[in-house]
Amino acid sequence: MTDTVAPTPPWLDRYRASMMGTVTTPLALLVRGEGCHVWDADGTRYLDFLAGIAVNALGHAHPALVAAVSSQIATLAHVSNYFATPPQVELAERLRRITGAGDDGRVFLCNSGTEAIEVAFKLARLNGAGLNRAGGERPRILSLQRSFHGRTMGALSLTGQPALQEPFAPLVPGVEHIDSTIEALEAAMGPDVAALFLEPIKGEAGVVDLPEGYLKRARELTTEHGALLILDEIQTGIGRTGSWFAFQQFGIVPDAIALAKGIAGGVPIGALVTFGAASGLLQAGHHGSTFGGNPLAAAAGNAVLGEIESAGLVENAARRGAELRSLIAGIGHPLVAEVRGRGLLIGIGLSSPVAKELSAAALAHGLIVNAPNEHSIRIAPPLIVGDAELAEFRTLFIQALEATALEATA
Ligand SMILES: *Cc1c(COP(=O)(O)O)cnc(C)c1O
Repeated sequence: MTDTVAPTPPWLDRYRASMMGTVTTPLALLVRGEGCHVWDADGTRYLDFLAGIAVNALGHAHPALVAAVSSQIATLAHVSNYFATPPQVELAERLRRITGAGDDGRVFLCNSGTEAIEVAFKLARLNGAGLNRAGGERPRILSLQRSFHGRTMGALSLTGQPALQEPFAPLVPGVEHIDSTIEALEAAMGPDVAALFLEPIKGEAGVVDLPEGYLKRARELTTEHGALLILDEIQTGIGRTGSWFAFQQFGIVPDAIALAKGIAGGVPIGALVTFGAASGLLQAGHHGSTFGGNPLAAAAGNAVLGEIESAGLVENAARRGAELRSLIAGIGHPLVAEVRGRGLLIGIGLSSPVAKELSAAALAHGLIVNAPNEHSIRIAPPLIVGDAELAEFRTLFIQALEATALEATA
């Protein structure tokens, strides 16, 4: 596909000279977005089926979000935690309601997913500090291999990816990474476990579902041993999987869920929502954040959650997700081996390790998808997708599949 090597564009030279090299080379210089599309600096239009990794729930430049943020920043953008604001309280009440945490639920607002996980880590330690029924302590925290929970030291200690962890050892002690099987969980659980951290679907691992019955068994075992069940719904939450939160499809109630990505449509925000007795663990002075839940971010969250509700976007995610799944399977291309995930969080398992090539071909044809590993394509379009976007995706994805298959046989 690339016989001629294009010269490095000037923006990339400037990027490399000024930005710390912590991520892979950016794919394009994006300047504008509208609905499910974004445009680069050369005016090329892309269908965005990644949505900032499950962040832009309403697509780009949605009028409801633009209006809410514009009006809030012109009214009151930030105060300290010595004061409360109406958007902050409204967002906390809203999160309590849509999670089902209800009157016993409590919300901590922060600025990112990894920060929500850090609060959850403290929650686990507080549960661990209490004596278990036999009078012993709970030093252990369980998490899954190939999981992703973020990159700050506490969150990184929970992330089950040795390659990400090794440069930063020693990590926070007490975390054990177990296999994602019910047998491994049963073997690892005990009265010395403070908490179990789980993603209902492992997004960064390539949109990988847990085994059938896993969450139900995890709830039984954690309850039995007095450990907290803490779900990382940073990627799966906020309507993405076809229900407000993925756990709601498994007939369980967790002790806490970590949220971020989709809440405020791109304005940085994170939240930890606790259920029942877990709501009483964190006390005054235990945690804080300067920006967390400030009126600007909270107003953005209220606008996004309000629009998801009034426009029926949770239902749309379920319906369009099912359509996309059958559309992808229906293409019948030999590179597509399986379709995973729920709602609009979809993993496409490939029959050969060409995910990077396929996502590059998609981009060259005007379609943004993501390759979390060489065998998987992840798509997470805005929750507003409709017939037109699905049809456009089909056309562009077929072109990308054909270009990739051609290149592989060339
Ligand atoms: C994105 C993500 C995180 C980290 O969130 P940040 O906002 O990048 O800090 C943690 N867990 C999961 C499952 C995620 O998808």
